[in-house]
Amino acid sequence: MMAFHKEVVETIYKTVVICDKCSKEKVLHIGYPLTWEGHMNGALRQDYTFMEKGNGFETLCPDCQKESVE
Ligand SMILES: [Zn+2]
Repeated sequence: MMAFHKEVVETIYKTVVICDKCSKEKVLHIGYPLTWEGHMNGALRQDYTFMEKGNGFETLCPDCQKESVE
């Protein structure tokens, strides 16, 4: 006699970077959760950037970066 039981045990993390100005999202990674460095590097690879603003940082997508230069 054999008994089987199946369940989903895998958790998949989807990490997205969000532009603070236009709220445009870009998927950085799907799978394991990213480290802090992974977040930064992933965002930079998607041409997002971090601008100093007030006491923190503002995340900007490539389009909004162009706007803020002018
Ligand atoms: Zn933007």
